[in-house]
Amino acid sequence: MKESITGSPGPAARPRVGADASVGADASVDADVDVVVVGAGVTGLYAVHRLRGLGHRVRGFERGDDVGGVWYWNRYPGARCDVESVDYSYSFDEELQQEWDWSEKYAAQPEIVRYLRHVADRFDLRPAYTFSTSVTSAELDEETLRWTVRTDGGEVLTARFVVFAVGCLSSTHVPDIAGAGDFLGTVCHTGAWPREGVDFGGLRVGVIGTGSSGIQAIPLIAEQAAHLTVFQRSANFSIPAGNDPLDEETRRRQKAGYAERRRLSRLSGGGSPHTAHRSATFEVSAEERRAAYEERWRLGGVLYSKTFPDQLTDPAANDAARAFWEEKVRGLVEEPATADLLVPTDHPIGTKRIVTDSHYYEAFNRDDVRLVSLRGNPIERIEATGIVLADGTRVELDAIVFATGFDAMTGALDRVEVRGRGGRRLKDVWSGGPRTYLGLGVDGFPNLFNLTGPGSPSVMANVVLCAEQHVDWLADCLAHLDERGHRAIEASGEAVEEWVAQCRDRAAATLFPAADSWYLGANIPGKPRVFMPFIGGFGVYGEIIADVAASGYKGFTLIPE
Ligand code: FAD
Ligand code: NAP
Repeated sequence: MKESITGSPGPAARPRVGADASVGADASVDADVDVVVVGAGVTGLYAVHRLRGLGHRVRGFERGDDVGGVWYWNRYPGARCDVESVDYSYSFDEELQQEWDWSEKYAAQPEIVRYLRHVADRFDLRPAYTFSTSVTSAELDEETLRWTVRTDGGEVLTARFVVFAVGCLSSTHVPDIAGAGDFLGTVCHTGAWPREGVDFGGLRVGVIGTGSSGIQAIPLIAEQAAHLTVFQRSANFSIPAGNDPLDEETRRRQKAGYAERRRLSRLSGGGSPHTAHRSATFEVSAEERRAAYEERWRLGGVLYSKTFPDQLTDPAANDAARAFWEEKVRGLVEEPATADLLVPTDHPIGTKRIVTDSHYYEAFNRDDVRLVSLRGNPIERIEATGIVLADGTRVELDAIVFATGFDAMTGALDRVEVRGRGGRRLKDVWSGGPRTYLGLGVDGFPNLFNLTGPGSPSVMANVVLCAEQHVDWLADCLAHLDERGHRAIEASGEAVEEWVAQCRDRAAATLFPAADSWYLGANIPGKPRVFMPFIGGFGVYGEIIADVAASGYKGFTLIPE
């Protein structure tokens, strides 16, 4: 059977109109609302809750047929968070925080989606949404400063504010490989996994891609499949999660300490309560350095990238961390030749997101798992029954899993026709890379906000707290406009210029530009090479945007009625 790899719902699935009192039940009826929110992931859900709570008439649209965002789409085996569940959850409601019991240190996809459904039910968010419906365009009327929003369900409505919460990792990337359409077996993408799951039992499976998604899925697919071939273009740094079930006592302690945990997270660089070592790498003895690496290794996963504060700025410090990692990983892989392939040589550790895995390296000790390096020998074509490499090697397969990532940070927004002042298309304005003020506003696009996207910490930090940070700022901003009788808010061109330069300069002072990462758009052919997130840290960014609000929104123009 052929599986869809696009994840787009068929036309029969739409439209289903939400029960928002402000809108009729007929999807073709034009309507006026205060706010349109696009997306029902972590960010969109909180935006609907908070803005509706301020009395705004809010309509939400979601391409999927339910809430969850990333956790709705990425149902591949092994999908789980890489920020501890206790931190990767909303902080805005103390009762919610206290009543929800996470079962594991790093929750798996089904549990996270259950949590987001619980949030949607608890705060009655679903009625605000129209599901199985994509927003296709948003166009500014310069006279009224209202936005006309259109959907693929044929609905047309106008809104004073448009809030994009479309996700940094929601637009799947399938590489253009010759003959891909000829393959007769099962094909799926980790980011649009079939709802009914995929039974790999008895199949010869090929996984293309060894980023976080591939690395999480590979050990589980290996357990099911008759044989697994892993096609690796670039090796990645991965660290065992050290995942464990959470017992009652641990949960009780975590919940009792939540206030302090959240306080530290809000001050931190990455939106979790962990901080780097107080000293720089070479200010401590070799023993202390090793003990620090060991402790971070035990803590698990992505946090290793910030063991020492200079690890992502000083090449020698980075190399010391890398050497410890290599020693550990070589200890996990039995075949030295396989270990050689699994050790990255093309980027400093941490400059692509360190993967948080469960038994990844051990999977290559199995007789039924083979690692194929595509370095110097790329996939040439896909045929009806397998994959052919440039050197003529043919790998016979019954199923291909694309774990090939996303058109990150800008992909989802690019798919919407957004037109601001003078009919300018946002896609054109961003053709050389995204240009924002604080990640929140773009000059020429008044009352349009893009949440947890480029120009903000977003994917560099715990995105749940990033979502709360942005939505809370936005809620205060809209209240400010209404209190003072302002019709609109618009970033100034100078503020955008300054912020773009600041984001660029901050990134240039680190080792991040040395990696061909999706942070830089390097995974998408033809995408401009621009470091997209704000890298200065979650806490620092929080102070910057709070200061902007306190100053009466400096850098923005407030437009009177
Ligand atoms: P999303 O969850 O991506 O939601 C956006 C929604 O918008 C989607 O449901 C999409 O269907 C919808 N949409 C997009 N365009 C349109 C349109 N035009 N019309 C209608 N609907 C539209 N971050 C962490 O901090 N910690 C983690 O552990 C972590 N794990 C991750 C694991 C995976 C597999 C992936 C892919 C990402 C992970 N991330 C993690 C990053 C993740 O993107 C964020 O944590 C967070 O889930 C993003 O939430 P969001 O609401 O901003 O976007
Ligand atoms: P990714 O990191 O972009 O990895 C994509 C993989 O596909 C890379 O190994 C890439 O190789 C490979 N690839 C792409 N095109 C290819 C081609 N034409 N031929 C061969 N290989 C090709 O994507 P991802 O793994 O989906 O992860 C994206 C991000 O989502 C992560 O960085 C993380 O932020 C988030 N995520 C988090 C978790 C979690 O642990 N909670 C899980 C999944 C995803 P190259 O490296 O050579 O380009």
